[in-house]
Amino acid sequence: SSRPHSMSLMSQCGEEQVAGEYSKHYVTLKQIGKGAYGCVKMAYRRSDRLLAVAKFILKEKVGAQFWVDGPDGRKVPLELSLLMTLKHPNIVSVIDMYENDKYFQMVMEKHGAGMDLFEFIERRPRLDEPLLSYIFRQIGQAVEYLHSLNILHRDIKDENVIIDNKFHVKLIDFGSATFMSKDTLFSTFYGTTEYCSPEVLAGNKYAGPELEMWSMGITLYVLTFFVNPFSDIEDTIQGPLSFPQIVSDDLEHLLRWMLCKEPSQRCTVPQLMSHAWIRQPVNISHYIFHEIVDCDRHEANPEMYFSGSLSPRSGSPVSLALDPLVKERSNPSEV
Ligand code: ADP
Ligand code: MG
Ligand code: MG
Repeated sequence: SSRPHSMSLMSQCGEEQVAGEYSKHYVTLKQIGKGAYGCVKMAYRRSDRLLAVAKFILKEKVGAQFWVDGPDGRKVPLELSLLMTLKHPNIVSVIDMYENDKYFQMVMEKHGAGMDLFEFIERRPRLDEPLLSYIFRQIGQAVEYLHSLNILHRDIKDENVIIDNKFHVKLIDFGSATFMSKDTLFSTFYGTTEYCSPEVLAGNKYAGPELEMWSMGITLYVLTFFVNPFSDIEDTIQGPLSFPQIVSDDLEHLLRWMLCKEPSQRCTVPQLMSHAWIRQPVNISHYIFHEIVDCDRHEANPEMYFSGSLSPRSGSPVSLALDPLVKERSNPSEV
């Protein structure tokens, strides 16, 4: 299966991306993951061999409304400016930024082995509800923090969340993020169609939090059942929400509330964070990562510093059946 695409930075990542001051400080290694996204690579810092993740942002692909004033008066992409300012345990942090003529080079912390929730789900983790709640509530905490600062992420989905071997998750990819204000409605959607709410797909303007809640609902559904709830746009707008397996009443209640087609009736972030299913007790020390999800030694225990060789990633995951609801990675697009 392939990832649905964010409209931003595919393609055109040649040697030019590492040119400039950046390469005096970092050595760039292989591309992360399966390479659907051309511009995210492992790197290590020359001074201490600290492993990091570098995202190369092609300037010409950054839309006009996504530029802001940087610290020294130069223009920088909002994605970079936000990640440099935000500080939260469930949001990835930026270590360094550089730029050359064509690219911004954003160096982020490497969280865990670099596994995102898309790949985690592809490996069919043996999750129970308390563990699922523990993983998902961290996304909720990140979003609660963002909304308190009037920031909308707008591209919440499994592949924009990374997980480490303690089940600690962090939100990444602020390439569709924006500031919201009480009296302004948005008319363009910048996220991923599969995660877009029915009213926005139908062409309505949106305030923001209600759209974000829908995409979190899709993310929770996918983490629960490993398939998408809706097969296409039509189904998202019209189709009933069905459950392929039995889950607890609390989880079913929450999913139906987050994926309520009527935005004014949909769960809000405060309601989510006080929901019984989100607040259920969980003893996280009972769960051992490599028992929950198949992984290689490197993933079970990733190194922090570059040792001269990086163990290869484990074999490719099983291919999925011809189910219309089967998940694919998909890119954000304007709607
Ligand atoms: P895009 O805007 O092209 O979607 P992302 O910022 O989402 O780019 O990065 C693409 C992929 O790279 C992610 O889905 C994730 O698998 C991986 N990735 C990005 N940043 C990190 C990071 N800091 N640590 C580990 N993996 C990362
Ligand atoms: Mg992404
Ligand atoms: Mg993006």
